[in-house]
Amino acid sequence: MPENAPATPAGAGQSRQETPASKQEAGVEPGLWLVATPIGNLEDVSQRALSVLASVDRVACEDTRRTGRLLSRHDIAARLVSYHEHNAARVRPTLIRMLKDGSSVALVSDAGTPLISDPGYKLVRAALDAGIRVTGCPGPSAPLLALVLSGLPTDRFYFGGFLPAKAGPRRKALAALKSLDATLVFFESPRRLAASLADMAEALGPRPAAVARELTKLHEELRRGPLDQLAAHYDSAGAPKGEVVVVVGGDPGDAARSALSDADIDGRLGRLLATGTVRDAAAALSAETGRPRRELYARALALSQARTRKGCAGDP
Ligand code: SAM
Repeated sequence: MPENAPATPAGAGQSRQETPASKQEAGVEPGLWLVATPIGNLEDVSQRALSVLASVDRVACEDTRRTGRLLSRHDIAARLVSYHEHNAARVRPTLIRMLKDGSSVALVSDAGTPLISDPGYKLVRAALDAGIRVTGCPGPSAPLLALVLSGLPTDRFYFGGFLPAKAGPRRKALAALKSLDATLVFFESPRRLAASLADMAEALGPRPAAVARELTKLHEELRRGPLDQLAAHYDSAGAPKGEVVVVVGGDPGDAARSALSDADIDGRLGRLLATGTVRDAAAALSAETGRPRRELYARALALSQARTRKGCAGDP
């Protein structure tokens, strides 16, 4: 990749500053560029992102060593400046001054899209307040990849970032989301995963969910199932290695819960019983429909017993 490959300008509709001749040659517009970087697999970076990173005056990053590794893999020699939550208040005015002077600055985080549970919001705000053009190169973001791989509805979703670490505030935060008709997406630390899933099951009721672990990496894993089963799995298996995102089905709503007739429910349970236990059939349908597991367990048990009786009566 040539260092000064043109980076397609963006930002139509935004107020433009005069572009210095040197920048026009380099092909990158002045302003603040929010650039997404890989969340695991280093190949997951766009050509345009690499062009911008190679062309800007400065790359502001959380960890210069980490970003340096990404850039050197792509033969990019950029001028890095450290920008993280502990020095942001001190470094921000310097970056804003550079931007006001017509420089181009790219902001990257350690992984994924900057500002998504990562530094950058205050820099963007300060840049906009100073009339500086803000644009970006979209790319990887763990919550979006987890959402689309979860198998849960994607038409409406709510990103909750990291839930509170302590159980009390976490349960309170979850209770506030109980009636949201949107798929829920959370970051979670592997250490707290089992407890957090158990709190979700308790606070939200039976819901389908998915735990996305180590996305785009060698040991990528998607574990899908009812919340309480996922909680039980991680409780007995222990904290998984790596990074995780939890995706949970939204509130199915009373209408959806009661939309299935009793005959529908029995039909679905009958099919599930052909391949699984009474407990599994009840759990699966409960997670899918939001109907109470106890009610479905009782129906599945009655169905299973009726089948056994029928089978016995038919024996020669
Ligand atoms: N800005 C980043 C993004 O857009 O993906 C997210 C940064 S946030 C500080 C880090 C959290 O993102 C991790 O704790 C984990 O929940 C999630 N995460 C990041 N990379 C991941 C991956 N490869 N697989 C699963 N989760 C990941």
